[in-house]
Amino acid sequence: MSTSSNSSISRLRQIEEQLTERNMGELKEITGIAVVEGTEWTSPKKVSFKPKTVYARDIVLKVEACGVCGSDIHCAAGHWGPRNNPLVVGHEIIGRVIEVGSGCKEGLKVGDRVGVGAQALSCLECSRCESENEQYCSNMTGTYNFPYPDGYISQGGYASHVIVHEHFAIPIPDNIPSHLAAPLMCGGITAFSPLLRSNVGPGTSVGVVGIGGIGHMAVIFAKALGANVTAISRRSNKKDDALKLGADVYIAAVEDKDWHKTYANTLDLIVVCSSSLTELDFDRIPSLLKVGGKVLSIAIPEASERLVLRPLLLKGISIGTSVIGSPAEIKKLLDFVSKKNLKIWVEEVPISEAGVAEVFRRMNSGDVRYRFSLVDFDKEFGA
Ligand code: NAP
Ligand code: ZN
Ligand code: ZN
Repeated sequence: MSTSSNSSISRLRQIEEQLTERNMGELKEITGIAVVEGTEWTSPKKVSFKPKTVYARDIVLKVEACGVCGSDIHCAAGHWGPRNNPLVVGHEIIGRVIEVGSGCKEGLKVGDRVGVGAQALSCLECSRCESENEQYCSNMTGTYNFPYPDGYISQGGYASHVIVHEHFAIPIPDNIPSHLAAPLMCGGITAFSPLLRSNVGPGTSVGVVGIGGIGHMAVIFAKALGANVTAISRRSNKKDDALKLGADVYIAAVEDKDWHKTYANTLDLIVVCSSSLTELDFDRIPSLLKVGGKVLSIAIPEASERLVLRPLLLKGISIGTSVIGSPAEIKKLLDFVSKKNLKIWVEEVPISEAGVAEVFRRMNSGDVRYRFSLVDFDKEFGA
């Protein structure tokens, strides 16, 4: 590890510890639904575990709702490699603040409703953090399955409580109910950030590849920003939904043999939102772009999958990636959804061992229209 990364880690530790004395915290135990060693990942179990230390700038949340992201499936199923055991996933978390660390200074109060996405901590002082790019900090801690500077492995939101640095807890506007706010915290901002950074608006033509949880939000947001939207799915079974979501054009890329010719040269930006690329002929995607167009991928498929860049040559286009969004961008997204009264498509499932097993199984087989939100946390974990 480099010296600069070592110093950032020690700085992270300082950020956790420096401000006044540690809060001892009332919370002695967290209960959650976890994937555990020795059983199938699709048979999660209810477990209790010790909370992380509540540092001075941490807040404690009692969870009300948690969205189910494609990344939860990848991580629980081991697609990205080994995971901590037991592991509680979930990083689309909405909860009420029940404790505020003694060094908090961003204005959160007990009783506030806040959201936490896929990021729980960053160094807050590097050039990336200081330019509202905290998600690109080389020392970010993810909301689950990531080590904190003190060694604690983060645990996610399929749980009674979550503890997080105040900077990554974002107030939720009153007119967005918790089950609809939850998926915005990771999936929503992952769809929104590349649109925002590409200045999508009236006159822009945007393609969205993969109409799943994130893709369906990308269609809604791109349309609401004023763009012309092309939904690119594998088959025709999502056509009616995509048009209702706001798509102007629908492509069934596995069924329609000539889509890359029919819709050639029509798009300025393509956002790839697929959880896997095995069933899609990625080589054909660039032909949809105009000169100077851009493909941005947010996909994090299985570690074994690779993207071949050869077809991108000689097309005058660029390719990039995007990861979640910064706290400032999440605030912009919440404000946008609140003001435009946008409604994402969510199916609520009460949290329990059986409920999490069901959402794992159905997400894994693509049987979701279009995002699950786990709810009824009080019933499972107590008020
Ligand atoms: P999701 O709800 O499961 O949707 C994934 C979509 O991908 C499916 O609806 C399907 O769309 C398409 N797809 C599935 N299998 C495919 C295959 N074999 N070949 C081609 N296309 C396939 O998942 P999600 O929550 O939207 O997440 C999508 C991806 O984003 C995941 O890899 C996740 O880890 C990643 N992610 C990235 C970030 C980031 O910051 N970059 C953040 C969150 C999640 P169609 O049926 O329309 O073809
Ligand atoms: Zn996610
Ligand atoms: Zn940083």
